[in-house]
Amino acid sequence: MSVCSLVDIAPAIAELIDVPLPGADGVVRPELTGLMQRCSRVVLIIVDSLGYSTYRRLKPSMPFMKGTLIRCGAVSDHTTPAIASILSGCYPETHRVFTTADVLTSSIKSVLERAEECGVKAAVVIETDGAAAMKTKIELSEGVPDSSDIIAYDAAIKEHAIDLLKLNPTLMVLHFRAIDRYAHEGRSFDDLTFAAESIDRHIAEICEHVLSDSCIIVCGDHPVHGNCTEDDRDVALIIFRAGDV
Ligand SMILES: [Zn+2]
Repeated sequence: MSVCSLVDIAPAIAELIDVPLPGADGVVRPELTGLMQRCSRVVLIIVDSLGYSTYRRLKPSMPFMKGTLIRCGAVSDHTTPAIASILSGCYPETHRVFTTADVLTSSIKSVLERAEECGVKAAVVIETDGAAAMKTKIELSEGVPDSSDIIAYDAAIKEHAIDLLKLNPTLMVLHFRAIDRYAHEGRSFDDLTFAAESIDRHIAEICEHVLSDSCIIVCGDHPVHGNCTEDDRDVALIIFRAGDV
C-alpha cells in the first residue's frame, strides 16, 4: 500500500518554503515533511515513468540516489495531468490540465506560481512547449526542444538546471524523460538500465551545484505504460538532503 499520493508532494514543498497552497487536494504528511527537516530549499526532479516496482528493479543502476524510498500513489497514466497534480497538489479532476495548452487556462495555481507570487524564487526546466506555457507564470523557466536522442535531451535538461541553480532558486523543478521514452520504444531492460544510469549521474551532478540545505525530491509521474501488474500502480518517491549524500 502506498503511504501517500503524488498530490501530497506540493503541500509538503509549500510548507517547507513557506508559501500558501489553498485548495490543494493533497495534505501535509509527516511521513514526507519529516524527511525534509533541516532544509530550506527544494529541487524537485520528476523522472518520467519511474514506477515503484520499476525503480526497485532499476535501483542498482541508480547508486547515487540513496534517500528514503516511499511508495507513492499515482493519479493518472498520462504525463501532463500527472505533472500538473505533482505541482498543484490537486487531482486531475480538480486542476483539469490534460494538455500543455490547458496550463494557460487552468485556474489552479502550482506551487511554483504560488512561490513566485510570494517573492520566493522558483525555476523550472522542462520540454520547450511546457516551458513556453509556464513562461508567463514563472520568470526562471528554460525549455529543451523534444529530440529523438532522449539521452541528449536529458543532458540538456541537466545543463539548464545547473545554469539556473547559479541564480539560487528556493524551488526548482525539472523533468527527465529517458526511461519513459525507452519504455515506449519497447527497449530491453539493459537499455532501461542505461537510461536510469544516465539520469542518476545527472542527479549526482546537479547535487554538486546545490547548497547542502537543499532537499532533493525525486518522483515518478506514473507507472511505466503497458505495465498493468497490480504491483506497479504506484510510483517511487525518494527524498534526501543534498548535504547528506
Ligand atoms: Zn510521463
